[in-house]
Amino acid sequence: MNEHTPQAGPALDKLSPDRPSSALAALPGVDRLMTVDPALDLVAIHGRTCVLNAVRTVLDTCRDILTSNPDRAIAEEDIYQRIDRQVADDLAHSLKPVINLTGTVIHTNLGRSPLPESAIDAMAAAARQPVNLEYDLVAGKRGDRDSHLEDRICRLTGAEAATVVNNNAAAVLLVLNSLANRRGVPVSRGELVEIGGSFRLPDIMRRAGARLIEVGTTNRTHLKDFESVMADRPALVLKAHTSNYAVVGFTASVAEQALAELCHSHGIPFCIDLGSGTVVDLQKFGLPHEPTVQEAFSNGADLVTFSGDKLLGGPQAGIVAGRRDLVERIKRNPMRRALRLDKVTIAALDAVLTLYQTPERLAETVPSLRNLARPVPEIEETAKAVATALASAAPSSVRVETAPCFSQIGSGALPTEALPSMAVRLTVEGGKKASGSRLRALSAAFRALPVPVIGRIGEGAFWLDMRCLDDPDSLLEQLVRLDWSEAT
Ligand SMILES: *Cc1c(COP(=O)(O)O)cnc(C)c1O
Repeated sequence: MNEHTPQAGPALDKLSPDRPSSALAALPGVDRLMTVDPALDLVAIHGRTCVLNAVRTVLDTCRDILTSNPDRAIAEEDIYQRIDRQVADDLAHSLKPVINLTGTVIHTNLGRSPLPESAIDAMAAAARQPVNLEYDLVAGKRGDRDSHLEDRICRLTGAEAATVVNNNAAAVLLVLNSLANRRGVPVSRGELVEIGGSFRLPDIMRRAGARLIEVGTTNRTHLKDFESVMADRPALVLKAHTSNYAVVGFTASVAEQALAELCHSHGIPFCIDLGSGTVVDLQKFGLPHEPTVQEAFSNGADLVTFSGDKLLGGPQAGIVAGRRDLVERIKRNPMRRALRLDKVTIAALDAVLTLYQTPERLAETVPSLRNLARPVPEIEETAKAVATALASAAPSSVRVETAPCFSQIGSGALPTEALPSMAVRLTVEGGKKASGSRLRALSAAFRALPVPVIGRIGEGAFWLDMRCLDDPDSLLEQLVRLDWSEAT
């Protein structure tokens, strides 16, 4: 029987011969545990394989505990509980909802943009049943998966043509590989960006087969620097939006119009990696201005690449939009097949782009924009309600109060702009060292909630920025489960 496969056997080699443990010898075996409750009940619900694996894991853990603590005993009741928990753990999904109170609105590590309800419905529908992904319903024959998105992107941005891939890094890779394989591409030294560690423009360029021609200096690049490399006959000029940093002080960069003119006078395309890629003026939402895709085109860009899940507020995707002849060349690249979107993402992006046809309502319909545009008095109201509830749940050694703070847009948009917001601030007693470890314990306790709450530690406090707390009840109803013990 399965129970007698080697992995099920007692880990005798872990038993040191000079310290025999009677508790270890007394541990029930797999066979016995499988024939009593709760295993029997669990088998009825989840099937034998799953429960057997959990029993083996629990027995391994128990053996480890008893081997390193020979004086301990583990009650059979305790083993049953462990089996129960192990089955639940094994069946729990690894990816789970969390509450983002970090103050970073579009947080890459927390999945960037939460999607609009219409997009979620569209994703579920596309996941549940067959869809006309690559099927032309009128002609009754094979269609094109870009067809669901291309027209909408063009209408929104003013581009002639567009294609969509897995993310913006893929979009940049595909553009460069399609248009600049084995050829030079000048980029200003001030724009050789690294985003989140894994996207480094020089590395992506190398992988795409393009040869980086560095232009200018870190802080200053002039048009004449670009003019001087034109003799190299570059394939295109790439401008990267310096999305997660700002070069300040004695600086100079070349205006997009001037670069576009230079490129066009040499008959080469001007491409802009915009990164965040907003298609509406954020000033309409009371936010600082971020360059839009439309502006890039009116400044003379031939191609623009941008993310679907940053300021657009959609699913992870990379959009390439611009001149038809260039997009056609990109579409013919076999590499595009390896970077293409799946039907569920297409469904989501289709739904999000549809919302942009009613721009007046974007601050209600697109959650990322809603969070960014939320008025401070509204955030403050949430902060007060949460602070009151937290204060009554907290032990006397934890101080809870509301405090002004600053949120960030995140994902590299407007890196130097801070959005005034309101937080619940928790402070603990003790000197710097003791309070530091208590704050970390507090932060861990919030992360251990059924729906983990992610805040941030800074300035001697644990901060919960209320900007993105759409539904305060999701936090409040968990408070009884919060374990304050390590923080007091
Ligand atoms: C974010 C960003 C990228 C990478 O986009 P992903 O969608 O995360 O792959 C590339 N370039 C710039 C300028 C960016 O801001």
